[in-house]
Amino acid sequence: MTVERMWILNCGWIGVENSLLMYREGFGQRQVIPVTANLVQTDEGYFLFDSGLNVAAVTDPEGALGAKAATLVDLDEGHGILAHLESLHIDVGDVRWLANSHLHWDHTGGNSHLTGAQMLVQREELRFALEPDAFVSAIFLRQQYGLPEAPTVVEGDYVVTDGLGLINTRGHTPGHQSLIVRLPSGRSALCAGDAAYLQANVDQAWPPGNAWSMPDAYRSLRRIAFLRDFARTELLVGHDPALWERTGPRVREIR
Ligand SMILES: [Zn+2]
Repeated sequence: MTVERMWILNCGWIGVENSLLMYREGFGQRQVIPVTANLVQTDEGYFLFDSGLNVAAVTDPEGALGAKAATLVDLDEGHGILAHLESLHIDVGDVRWLANSHLHWDHTGGNSHLTGAQMLVQREELRFALEPDAFVSAIFLRQQYGLPEAPTVVEGDYVVTDGLGLINTRGHTPGHQSLIVRLPSGRSALCAGDAAYLQANVDQAWPPGNAWSMPDAYRSLRRIAFLRDFARTELLVGHDPALWERTGPRVREIR
């Protein structure tokens, strides 16, 4: 099996406190950040990493997202995962695999549309997301998980298929994972998920602020930095506003 193409998808914009992006920095300062997902084309089907925001919130914000609706800044139907697939002329039934970096609400919004895909989830994430600790429970919206009856439960680093793997980057959540892809160009790309929100998290070895376990989040951040620097892996962070224009293109191909 080979990887043929890869895209990063802009799935809408939310407002968060700066201290959530950089631990203990900028309390009370609001930042508007993108929410993204990654799509990989292989000769055996498509692999989707995260599914963005739930576009049911366009017409019914509170009904879809509860209290999280207050964070929405810019969301329309075109940000949804189905619209993205359609714009790339991809049938949703051709998405063979779905893996979420973790099961927070802004990474699982389109999961319910992908019930035909094989879902890969870390054992620790699955356990935790079904009964999260109180202090982080509001970030998990169980009705969005779209869990199939038999998800593929993985533990730690996992090779999905040749050129496509999941790396355990726990800390943000107990079973957080990142995606590593060997591109047709021979280079590799690493989708950090929320192990790094911003390029600055990695450049400054400064983790995001809302980790379930800060020591683990810090170790995972250093591991990502190592992969970037040693293996010359292209780092793709998912929530960095410096990388997107609000009114610009919503799909970017990674080569
Ligand atoms: Zn996130």
